[in-house]
Amino acid sequence: MALGKVTMPEKEIPFTLAQLEQMSEMFPTPFYVYDEKGIRANARRLNAAFAWNPRFRNYFAVKACPNPSLMRVLREEGFGMDCSSLPELLLSERIGVMGEAIMFTSNDTPAEEFVKAKALGAIINLDDITHIPFLEACAGLPDLVCFRYNPGPLKGGNTIIGNPEQAKYGFTRGQLFDGYRVLKEKGITRFGLHTMVASNELNPQYFIDTAEILFALVAELSRAIGIVFEFVNLGGGIGIPYKPEQVAVDLECVGEGVREVYEKHILGNGHPPLKLYMECGRMITGPCGYLVSRVRHIKKTYRTYAGLDACMANLMRPALYGAYHHITVPAKVGQPCTAVYDVTGSLCENNDKFAIGRSLPELAPGDLVVIHDAGAHGHAMGFQYNGKLRSAELLLREDGTVLPIRRAETVEDYFATLAFNARM
Ligand SMILES: *Cc1c(COP(=O)(O)O)cnc(C)c1O
Repeated sequence: MALGKVTMPEKEIPFTLAQLEQMSEMFPTPFYVYDEKGIRANARRLNAAFAWNPRFRNYFAVKACPNPSLMRVLREEGFGMDCSSLPELLLSERIGVMGEAIMFTSNDTPAEEFVKAKALGAIINLDDITHIPFLEACAGLPDLVCFRYNPGPLKGGNTIIGNPEQAKYGFTRGQLFDGYRVLKEKGITRFGLHTMVASNELNPQYFIDTAEILFALVAELSRAIGIVFEFVNLGGGIGIPYKPEQVAVDLECVGEGVREVYEKHILGNGHPPLKLYMECGRMITGPCGYLVSRVRHIKKTYRTYAGLDACMANLMRPALYGAYHHITVPAKVGQPCTAVYDVTGSLCENNDKFAIGRSLPELAPGDLVVIHDAGAHGHAMGFQYNGKLRSAELLLREDGTVLPIRRAETVEDYFATLAFNARM
């Protein structure tokens, strides 16, 4: 590193520049590429952290990255699927994930989704007390029912998901007591309890505290109502280090901390052992997905712009949340960051920016850039506004081969829903 010059604090990428050039010859930029090896490693780390609970299972939040090839990889790692819509249920069914390997966590739910979830034998996680009679009327009650808890003022939220009191999700504490009583009277025999109060949270203690609230509540509910719980679902929300100076959540610390509060509140209160579930999406695929794009134009006006061939239709987190996504210029790694760019797309929206005021090496049209941590809530949030089409997705296999797992959209896809021949 040259003295007095700043190089990029680097984040690793799992492919070489030559591999990247090769991919971009076969699949025009922009495209997404996912690293299978990294995804499996994240899944195994999470499973290992909770191995003390013999029936631990993470239900992958399908909304984070709804691609059947990735879902198959995760099924092989023992994951179930966490679905929240009819298409997500159908996607799980198509890859052969059914029954209690599906967690159906929805809200403001239409009848046909409950009908399908019930038909698949999914675990149904109800968002509201009025959904008990609604579900009973449209599909009949299954023998296992779970409720989503919203602790309201009893727990602080965080910035992405907001304050629980302002959040539309879940039952109040009082409604849980009423709801489980109703279920018991109706002859239901199997019970679960769920919450999800944080998103992209990096503090391990947050998850331990949440688990403690749920375990204490399970002990209290079972005593008050005379029911036995089968599982607790801690939800998703484990964050990832988007910035190079951030550190990943210490999963072993979370697993150990959760074990301690489990032993205290569950075993300590004489409650039979519980199955522990989670619904993590982001921490599994997020760090292993990369949006690959090329610099199209360099523009110098009041600021300096690097215009990419990707835009916010491919990744809207920066525009939506002001989220940081690290950018690597693989051909220029190690070069000093002597320039400051606003890195933009071509959408006619001024917030179509991947980065603002980012120090990077001097860029030129044609340079390949890699946008990190795009593997969850990335491609999935894509849209077609301004006639921008969603990109292809590729899977970098463990053996180094590259498998296309979604083609890029074409203008024909964009036109497919239009009634060109509507009689005016
Ligand atoms: C989005 C969501 C998840 C996944 O959240 P991550 O931040 O991707 O872990 C899990 N459960 C529910 C109910 C969700 O809405």
